[in-house]
Amino acid sequence: MDKKNFISIAIDGPSASGKSTVAKLLASRLNFLYVDTGAMYRAYTLAVLSSSLNAKNEKESDSLIGKIEINFDENNHVCLNGKDVSKEIRENNVADNVSYIASYKNIRLFLVSLQRKIANNKNIVMDGRDIGTYVLKDAEVKIFLSADVEERARRRFSENKEKGIDTSYEECLENIKKRDYIDSHRDFCPLRPASDAIHIDSTNLSIEEVVSKMEEIIKKKGYLL
Ligand code: C5P
Repeated sequence: MDKKNFISIAIDGPSASGKSTVAKLLASRLNFLYVDTGAMYRAYTLAVLSSSLNAKNEKESDSLIGKIEINFDENNHVCLNGKDVSKEIRENNVADNVSYIASYKNIRLFLVSLQRKIANNKNIVMDGRDIGTYVLKDAEVKIFLSADVEERARRRFSENKEKGIDTSYEECLENIKKRDYIDSHRDFCPLRPASDAIHIDSTNLSIEEVVSKMEEIIKKKGYLL
């Protein structure tokens, strides 16, 4: 079947803007596949750190390209070399280093090619930083989701607490600000809204309200019953 028969929904935005939560919910309501591309950058980062390579060194980090396997299992959990690493990738050491890894062009090209393979010939909701601008630049629907940085830090802090990850609010805020800066200032595929993306500010919205807004946008474009 031709790709035109499938719908791609690209959701981009800064760290902890709630992308993953709403994208997952939206995908399950539409019965589309959900792909969390941030989890792939995190899994690559985990591989670098577990191999005792220096994540701040591009050449060292590049050395794992093509040598590691990153995919999603039947529960949509991210796997590194066949092992479910969905919990490890949320730890602080990964969060602190992932934006360096994501700034290296060759690593991005390696992961983008996996992302496009996963998305090929499927109805898909994919979230990340460069989905609407690069990975799926022909996506039928593009949404840019943002929220105030303090609100994002509060959300990340309570999410971590729930997951038993030990971080303070200040650490969350600092990590988010640092990642925002690196993600939006890198040369290749920086974080920015696609020119045809529709913006949603989720600062004062509930998860349900954000998902409803997205459904409205998709409906208006004529892709939803
Ligand atoms: O979405 P999440 O916060 O888990 O992403 C982790 C990191 O991966 C981001 O801070 C960013 O550096 C990187 N990333 C990216 N491009 C994507 C998805 C994530 O650069 N498409």
